[in-house]
Amino acid sequence: MRVAIVGAGPGGLACALELERRGIYPDIFERSNRVGHPISRVEVLLQLFERPLKNQLHYLLKNYALEFQPLSPLRRVVMHTTRHNATVRGNLGFLVERGQSEEAIEVQLSRKLRTRIKFDLEADYRALAGEYDFVVVAEGNHQAARDLHVLETSFDAWVKGAIVLGRFAPDSSSIYFNTDYAGHGFACLSPFNRNRAALLLIVPKVARSRVNELWNRFMHMENINFEIAENFEIYQSTGLTSRRQLDNILLTGTSGGFTDSFLGLGLFAALAGGALAGRAIAEGLDYERLTAPLSIQAGRMAVFRRAFNTLDNSDIDRLVNAITLPGIKKVIYNTNFNIIGMLYPFLEKRFRKLHPSLQYSSPRK
Ligand SMILES: Cc1cc2nc3c(=O)[nH]c(=O)nc-3n(C[C@H](O)[C@H](O)[C@H](O)COP(=O)(O)OP(=O)(O)OC[C@H]3O[C@@H](n4cnc5c(N)ncnc54)[C@H](O)[C@@H]3O)c2cc1C
Repeated sequence: MRVAIVGAGPGGLACALELERRGIYPDIFERSNRVGHPISRVEVLLQLFERPLKNQLHYLLKNYALEFQPLSPLRRVVMHTTRHNATVRGNLGFLVERGQSEEAIEVQLSRKLRTRIKFDLEADYRALAGEYDFVVVAEGNHQAARDLHVLETSFDAWVKGAIVLGRFAPDSSSIYFNTDYAGHGFACLSPFNRNRAALLLIVPKVARSRVNELWNRFMHMENINFEIAENFEIYQSTGLTSRRQLDNILLTGTSGGFTDSFLGLGLFAALAGGALAGRAIAEGLDYERLTAPLSIQAGRMAVFRRAFNTLDNSDIDRLVNAITLPGIKKVIYNTNFNIIGMLYPFLEKRFRKLHPSLQYSSPRK
């Protein structure tokens, strides 16, 4: 069987590894000259959003034989609003490196591949669909979903980031909410190690020309004065698709609508979705059905996004205050209580109208 994979990000690599485990050696096309974005960043695998899973790394290993080392477990998150700084502690997830270093998840996964990636090749999934039995689109954007008329909604953002130098706790992240500089996005600081961290400002629905001004406002208002080693800007795509397979074309990762539009998290879903694409192809299974839980989860997070968009700074402050009150905090962060699953039905009633065609059925099992 001939399989082409477009994109050697987490989704494409997880798909390739699953296919190889089943004796199928795909052709993997990557438009860059190596795996990973040239500028490193730290991403968070947030356990809160994947409940009832307790540990995403164990789950990926057990279910898909996907194994990689995180930078650190995440044990502390400090949330900054206009009026409060609130800290939560617990087994909150993991910090993972992205980029081109040996620790980056895409580099770790690519080392396990037997197939050689075809670099410097900007592939055209439509042309490949005529040549191969299956094409897996893992391009990290919505272009294919848009061409194929299955893009339901998209919530894109500009991200301005910096690699900063200073003193950091390696198991701790900070998140900043303030509509004056982030709109309904946020900023976050996550460490690579004790001396180096990634600082990101993620602003949805903004023209690129405004990002610098908002970044300067963020640095000033939060009084951030780390030494900056490198600056970068990235366009982030999130959004939902109504279908994930059309004939012999399978969409996965961000291309399949798995990156959530609330906080823009999609690494776990890209890995799981990519592996499921490989499994569906190798075993002749129904990819739509296999990935329905990932799609439903992304749909639920879109409702949280809609709800969040209606809040102003005082509402956000009250919300963060409420979820960090001592008793509530203990239940949310020190148990495996599925807070997203509990809040979702209330929000769904109010915000469903905005996405009438989405699947909102049963939560992830
Ligand atoms: C700034 C930022 C911060 C983020 N933080 C988090 C976080 O903290 N936690 C989290 O869970 N998620 C986070 N995400 C989301 C996460 O990065 C994505 O969900 C994840 O990378 C999706 O993986 P993917 O394989 O679908 O796409 P990508 O990682 O984007 O990989 C796509 C690959 O395809 C290649 N490609 C594209 N088009 C072609 C083509 N035509 N031919 C050949 N190759 C092609 C690209 O070069 C790239 O290598 C963040 C995203 C951004 C941008």
